[in-house]
Amino acid sequence: MSNVFESMNQKDHEQVVFCHDSDTKLKAIIAIHDTTIGPALGGCRMWEYANEKEALTDVLRLSRGMSYKAAIANLNLGGGKAVIFGNSKTDKSEILFRSFGRFVDGLDGRYITAEDVGTTVKDMEWVRMETEYVTGISRALGGSGDPSPVTALGTYAGLQACVKRKLGKDSLRGLKVGVQGVGHVGYYLCQHLYRAGAKLFVTDIDEISLKRVVNEFRANVLGLDDIYDADLDIYAPCALGATLNDVTIPKLKCSIVAGAANNQLGKESRHSTMIENRDILYAPDYAINAGGLINVANEIEGYNRERAFSQAESIYDTLMVIFDLADSEKVSTHTAASKVAERRMADVAKLKNIYLPRKNVMGKRDNN
Ligand code: NAD
Repeated sequence: MSNVFESMNQKDHEQVVFCHDSDTKLKAIIAIHDTTIGPALGGCRMWEYANEKEALTDVLRLSRGMSYKAAIANLNLGGGKAVIFGNSKTDKSEILFRSFGRFVDGLDGRYITAEDVGTTVKDMEWVRMETEYVTGISRALGGSGDPSPVTALGTYAGLQACVKRKLGKDSLRGLKVGVQGVGHVGYYLCQHLYRAGAKLFVTDIDEISLKRVVNEFRANVLGLDDIYDADLDIYAPCALGATLNDVTIPKLKCSIVAGAANNQLGKESRHSTMIENRDILYAPDYAINAGGLINVANEIEGYNRERAFSQAESIYDTLMVIFDLADSEKVSTHTAASKVAERRMADVAKLKNIYLPRKNVMGKRDNN
């Protein structure tokens, strides 16, 4: 694994920690991208990486994404991520996650972990036996529980912003919305849309999830690939990543793309420009789906569901700021979102120019 510093330098990462414990067979990497705004927060992924380079690339990319997501959500958090090498079905144990928890604890709050692909709330409860720097714990243990209702509310607020911007309307009544994936987030999003009087079109590979939204919200079912060229006002991706690509974008008949899925753009720059050129308004995924992060961030300060919901609703305003900047600078909404996030990081960094006398461990005053 040569060139670690070179890789860190490319996107300005602060710290990378390689964790190894031969007793528990833990092999993990923690990446801290940026702590300008606050401690680095990001989930812990468990994955069978083909090699160490692939794992490093993944953790560097994901941790940087978290810096932008926290910054744009107006949270006082930085970006971090962890990856554990292993098969999430066969290689898990209490001792493995407790070992990981001790490495997290050693960072003394510079990095806060949470569940992610391949890990669960239960795994994080093992981590919590060794460190307080873990969030996304079950409600039974005083945590925030399932984040998807908050993510769905934030996404719905984002849809309202898009409708106001693109169609000049204050309501979604009568609009045709296609929701791709009606799992945790998709289900709650459909609930908001139904209550708002939208006409629902849904698709999913899971029949049971589909039946639920058909029965409860009078949704119409579309074939898996029919969602792209269906006659819709809004396409809401809430299942997989990379659904906006060379094949799907030319098919779209909607005027708005806004949904909760992560990494919706196949290739960020290419596909955000393609969407822009088709005169479709795109809500940047990491801005509109920040409700989940808002939820776990609230847990750190002592969970208050009302506060989490109200912060998620402010995604409406965040998107308006992004759309204004995209218009004034004639850039895609994707580029504008990056600029808004970078601006906040830079603004907060400048605050540190103001000297604050603090006592250090020796009792002497120290600048921080
Ligand atoms: P989920 O697994 O509960 O739901 C995903 C749904 O998509 C499932 O019902 C699944 O059957 C369906 N699906 C899978 N492949 C499909 C396909 N090819 N076509 C149509 N449907 C398909 O996941 P979730 O928690 O609801 O998250 C949905 C998306 O939102 C993911 O991309 C996730 O990363 C993102 N997200 C979730 C949260 C959260 O709070 N849960 C927060 C931020 C982002």
